[in-house]
Amino acid sequence: MATHDQYIGGEWVKGESYTPNINPSNLAESIGEYARGGKNQAEQAIQAARDAAAGWGAGGIQARADALDTIGTEILARRDELGRLLAREEGKTLKEAVGEVGRAGYVFKFFGGEALRLSGELTPSVRPGVRVEVTREPLGVVGIITPWNFPIAIPAWKIAPALAFGNTVVFKPAELTPGCGWAIADIIARSGIPAGVFNLVVGKGSVIGDAIVKSPDVNGISFTGSVDTGHQILVEATKRHAKVQLEMGGKNPLVVLDDADLDVAVNCAVNGAFFSTGQRCTASSRLVVTDGIHDRFVDSVVEKLKALRVGDAIADDTDIGPVVDQAQLDQDLSYIEIGQKEGARLACGGDRVTRDTEGFYLSPALFVDTDNQMRINREEVFGPVASVVRVKDYDEAVDVANDTDFGLSAGIVTTSLKHAGDFKQASRAGMVMVNLPTAGVDYHVPFGGTKGSSYGPREQGGYAKEFYTTVKTAYVTG
Ligand code: NAD
Repeated sequence: MATHDQYIGGEWVKGESYTPNINPSNLAESIGEYARGGKNQAEQAIQAARDAAAGWGAGGIQARADALDTIGTEILARRDELGRLLAREEGKTLKEAVGEVGRAGYVFKFFGGEALRLSGELTPSVRPGVRVEVTREPLGVVGIITPWNFPIAIPAWKIAPALAFGNTVVFKPAELTPGCGWAIADIIARSGIPAGVFNLVVGKGSVIGDAIVKSPDVNGISFTGSVDTGHQILVEATKRHAKVQLEMGGKNPLVVLDDADLDVAVNCAVNGAFFSTGQRCTASSRLVVTDGIHDRFVDSVVEKLKALRVGDAIADDTDIGPVVDQAQLDQDLSYIEIGQKEGARLACGGDRVTRDTEGFYLSPALFVDTDNQMRINREEVFGPVASVVRVKDYDEAVDVANDTDFGLSAGIVTTSLKHAGDFKQASRAGMVMVNLPTAGVDYHVPFGGTKGSSYGPREQGGYAKEFYTTVKTAYVTG
């Protein structure tokens, strides 16, 4: 069985222990043994990143651009192979996994270009004879802490801008999906970047993540994950004035109006709520549907869900892969029970499914007759579970859509230009989709939300520099 080490200071370093990476489609299969480290290894990685920071930050932008382009090129060239690894360790279908790897490759290439485009401002002073220069500088060492559900795209959209803008990186992937994290490290290690600029430390969040968050040598922390962990990180990091960027949960509404094209509405709902096994922060977990189309919409969604094939992530005919692990499956099943106890009606799904191999298979569950105050409509389930909330008209739909502690993504399906235009303004979410699923975003534009979903500057696109650089104002005379 292949073992996979930590990458610290330009060397592959043995882990303090090794853990098998189990395939959620087939619990008898291990994808490999992956290193786990303790606080010591986190500190070594932080020190290596600290030592490399000045050189990389002052180094040429051509070297950064070339390295990122090389990394992106290799990821794209290996997208089928890496997609297979991703599908086997995380459980999304092969098609979705290959798509995610492609996104990661393009992200690196995009930020290769961004490294060359970092500009400043030269402006006259209010004092005669003085000029003002506004420039952007790297933060220094950035700690990157990521979740399991997009194990290559999320690391890519944090690591690439961090390196592009001259920072060094300590990267801690989720314990459940170290394979993609290790693959990225392996590619970066061969890209020609100097030792210490990028470091990989796999291990527990409460140990490695905690060490990164609390270290005075880490200048910025970019985190994606659950709300609870995000809050803990926010409190610890701000205590020592570190820069923090958090992307957390969602309870994203998809509004379906009477005038919607039924096929578009059903496709948006099924794709947005259930693809990637519903394990997306942008998943449409609340389907807010007006009276006139409600029954037709529910019947069509149920019919479509019953036809979807739940199975092994890498099988050709699979539409929905397994849930990622036992803990997530238990959480999904517990919310299905909670929903029923609250008085919601399960229109379909929510059953454990058996296949040739033992895996965490769950049929997609649709709740109807739900109220927006129910726990299943307030708390993130993070599985193949969605609810329909019936409303009387557009105005009520907007109120329900915005009545949530989260604000990541929101969608509307309508043929009314007036309502589509109004919804883009009225929605309190950070991303709004018109006649498109709430999940599925481009890599070259900003990503992020409001309220409990996000904290700090937006990720991705040109906006990424807001987090990964700090601004300096210089006054010059003569
Ligand atoms: P999680 O919060 O359990 O873990 C995320 C990461 O934080 C992991 O690497 C984990 O090891 C680490 N961690 C855990 N405790 C820590 C601590 N005390 N200090 C520092 N790091 C710690 O989340 P998860 O279960 O891996 O991911 C699922 C969650 O991620 C969902 O809530 C989902 O909505 C969210 N998510 C959000 C986005 C977004 O962009 N908004 C995208 C994907 C996933």
